[in-house]
Amino acid sequence: MKTSVIGFPRIGRNRELKIVLEKYFRGETDIRQVENLAAQLREQNWKLQQQSGIDWISSNDFSLYDNMLDVAYLFHVIPERYLDLKLSDPDTYFAMARGYQGKAGNVKALAMKKWFHTNYHYMVPELDDEMEIRRNGDKPLEEYRQAKRLGIETKVVLIGPFTFLKLAHYTGKKTARDFAPVFAEAYAELVRDLQAEGGKVIQFDEPYLSFDLTNQDKQLFIDLYGPILAAKTSAKVLLQTYFGDVRDIYAELIKMDFDALGLDFVEGKQSLKLVQTFGLGKQQVLVAGVVNGRNIWRHNSAKTADLLEALKQCGIDTESRVVLGTSCSLLHVPYTVANENRIPQEYKVHFSFAEEKLNELTRLKTNPLSESKTEEYPVRPDCINPSVRERVEAIRPEDYQRFPDFRTREKIQKDAWNLPLFPTTTIGSFPQTADVRRVRKEYRTGKISHAQYLDYMKEKIKACIALQEEIGLDVLVHGEFERNDMVEYFGQHLDGFLFTENGWVQSYGTRCVKPPIIWGDVSRKAPITVEWSEFAKSCSKHPMKGMLTGPVTILNWSFPREDLPREMCVKQIALAIRDEVLDLEAHGICMIQIDEAALREKLPLRKSDWKEEYLDWAIPAFRLVHSGVKPTTQIHTHMCYSEFGDMIPEIDAMDADVISFEASRSDLQILDALKANDFKTQVGPGVYDIHSPRVPSVEEIVETVHKIRARIPDYKIWINPDCGLKTRGEKETVASLQNLVAAARVLRKV
Ligand code: GLN
Ligand code: ZN
Repeated sequence: MKTSVIGFPRIGRNRELKIVLEKYFRGETDIRQVENLAAQLREQNWKLQQQSGIDWISSNDFSLYDNMLDVAYLFHVIPERYLDLKLSDPDTYFAMARGYQGKAGNVKALAMKKWFHTNYHYMVPELDDEMEIRRNGDKPLEEYRQAKRLGIETKVVLIGPFTFLKLAHYTGKKTARDFAPVFAEAYAELVRDLQAEGGKVIQFDEPYLSFDLTNQDKQLFIDLYGPILAAKTSAKVLLQTYFGDVRDIYAELIKMDFDALGLDFVEGKQSLKLVQTFGLGKQQVLVAGVVNGRNIWRHNSAKTADLLEALKQCGIDTESRVVLGTSCSLLHVPYTVANENRIPQEYKVHFSFAEEKLNELTRLKTNPLSESKTEEYPVRPDCINPSVRERVEAIRPEDYQRFPDFRTREKIQKDAWNLPLFPTTTIGSFPQTADVRRVRKEYRTGKISHAQYLDYMKEKIKACIALQEEIGLDVLVHGEFERNDMVEYFGQHLDGFLFTENGWVQSYGTRCVKPPIIWGDVSRKAPITVEWSEFAKSCSKHPMKGMLTGPVTILNWSFPREDLPREMCVKQIALAIRDEVLDLEAHGICMIQIDEAALREKLPLRKSDWKEEYLDWAIPAFRLVHSGVKPTTQIHTHMCYSEFGDMIPEIDAMDADVISFEASRSDLQILDALKANDFKTQVGPGVYDIHSPRVPSVEEIVETVHKIRARIPDYKIWINPDCGLKTRGEKETVASLQNLVAAARVLRKV
């Protein structure tokens, strides 16, 4: 049996790529250094996979920023505004990724969206009617050649044209259909070029096939692959799917001329059933995604043995026709458990990160059956807490309902808070400068005392509040300097979590996150944020928001346990955060923001699963957190996206008093949907994009708010940036917030 890896992490075992890129962005190094490091990282990844005995190793899974952006760039899907800057090739690419503000001009970045239900973000390609699609550079060929020079034959990975066109944004009249013929031809040309180079396997990633597909979608897919498969002579083409099963199109796929089909047997609930019902195409090989690319638990080889047995039952010769693979790219897990020194061995044996997963694959291929028999699966120590289980059992239906109803509260709060029209606020964090991170680290490593740490943080909070008062914001925050990460911080103060030292996973561009691992039952040891919020409140007479992370986000941004349904796990977390909400209120912090940055993220890809498998427990979990507060207490929430046009009633049903979200990067499309649904919750649709260092002008913000006013009644509108400011520099933050406040003042006059 052979093995295949869909893709490998690329940020570097020690985030080397992040470090060099950020240096480059600051003008401290040149592009040659970046490219040298990139080449080294690719080489390491390939050699590692080769040494682990992987048969189908990917090339072109690497990216300096994002693979969708790579495809856009490769086919010259570059909007005029970036070309007009007349920058070098790499800088044009980075301008699309990050925006550009400098001597050559001033342009926003491409929109950025979450990659399916992961916490990875891709750049949304922008297609306009005038665009001429043509080849721009040879990235896939160059990376293939680099591997070949090292004596490693790789399969070349490309995001397929269907997924690319379905995820792209169309600014003119043309649609995916109109662009299909040119893209099919452009991809076909690439196939020919790769074959001329000697390429033997080409992998097209088409995760979009896991969504619900219409007949038009299916036809588009078939039309796109006609020319591509016709171009195939010497190479084999692998159609790789992941993040679910492909039930809407499977029957067609086995009739098409793909040499191999990659199916996800971890998240694809119906993958096996599809193979059992329809079989495989005559010459087709099945790449069975069995090793979970999205979670960090050790693989249970007994499951794979069962799957192989079931495939044999369908008459498939598993030795010759099944390749064992990962369920998706390993981009979504950290590099290696070997980087972890703090987690005790009895816990560590249960983990498997990207590098360990390579070994799991090779072990499976050598002998899946005998392994499942011989390898004992050790028991997990201390993961059950009876009192937590009892408390969850005791939740009553009324615990999910806040009183009085929203509209009554809205009136009560209007009087109680007496805020100006278009109140201004921020999402919580302020720039985490190098000194903040240094002090946190010094405290963590015992270099400074608790008292010294408190002094420093309190000074920071005081200064941050003074700054906000000076800028003229209405609702203030303490700045979140004590938090490294909104989920890790809470996880560290709750029982039931484990933390890695180096378990970084790429989130977007150079940004990485270090998801905690939910090991056992979750409970709160002691108040978490109360002292900070109380201190902050004492520094100002302005309203001060308390800042919490919501249960769904804590769950979604952690590696979840697999021995307990997510629904139970989220209830445990919700009860812990509920205690924190009530403690804040008891200490006089009566405006509380409960961030659900990741609520949409884990929405099942298939709409028919949305309610039952997710929303039916996720939305109640949020309600459970805040249902116990007084009518005057104002509950805010924040989400890191704005594509919830299709779940507006559910968002409203969270029953928060105010919601802020990211709208600035998606043309405020969401607002029409809010209007159409008569959205009751007050809204702060972020008026500028914090993912880019660019400073928005007053006029620009005023104009954005006018667009908002066209759809939302004035008294429901809040003015805020579209996310936390922690990743931004101080200078641009102050300038941006000054403009934001100035804009609010202009608006209050008209
Ligand atoms: N309150 C958090 C912050 O401001 C929210 C971050 C987020 O939405 N990702 O950083
Ligand atoms: Zn956010």
